[in-house]
Amino acid sequence: MTSQRTRDRLVKRLQQQGIYNERVLEVMRRVPRHLFVDEALAHRAYEDTALPIGYGQTISQPYIVAQMTQLLLEEGMPNSVLEIGTGCGYQTAVLANIFPQVYSIERIEALYLQAKQRLAELELYNVQLRYTDGTEGWPNPSYRFDRIIMTAACTELPTALVSQLSDRGIMVLPFDNGVDQTMTRITRGSDGLVSEALEKVVFVPLLPGLN
Ligand code: SAH
Repeated sequence: MTSQRTRDRLVKRLQQQGIYNERVLEVMRRVPRHLFVDEALAHRAYEDTALPIGYGQTISQPYIVAQMTQLLLEEGMPNSVLEIGTGCGYQTAVLANIFPQVYSIERIEALYLQAKQRLAELELYNVQLRYTDGTEGWPNPSYRFDRIIMTAACTELPTALVSQLSDRGIMVLPFDNGVDQTMTRITRGSDGLVSEALEKVVFVPLLPGLN
């Protein structure tokens, strides 16, 4: 149930749901999602569903991981991507197989430590992880990122984080308006930030501080 055949079936379903980016499909065919969940849940790792990862958090549904990654790639191959909400590290691993430089922040120490170990075991050395509050952005304020992906829903845009988005950079995030959540793409153009509402989604909330 954790075999290559099971992963191939998942990829076929992703294609049927509108995931067209060959690189994303190829990477999701390869990255072993079952290694990012508890052993007791490994047999469900290739269902297209979110699963609990402890501490009240979830690993995102494969379709959502694929869709967000695809959105990050629409304007060509960027150099760096910053992820807010490492969680179990699965989305991070998918990004690390595609982008040259991956940065990821997690506010729950136990999840951060676990993700760090898993990514090292998969020999993904182009990833830098930090245990900190992602609403403040990457701890070095002079850093700029071509892409930013948030895997927890915010009710307002974290200013410090947005200021780390490069010129012509793209940020993809779930935005919560108090009623429901919408996947949102923010692009930094010559006239400032442009925001586009995409599809309805369900994410755990972005929370302040450390845990
Ligand atoms: N990409 C992850 C998603 C995990 S759920 C995965 O597929 O496993 C969202 C994650 O965001 C949780 O681990 C949660 O702890 C984290 N998070 C929430 N608010 C945060 C913040 N302010 N800074 C960093 N991480 C945050």
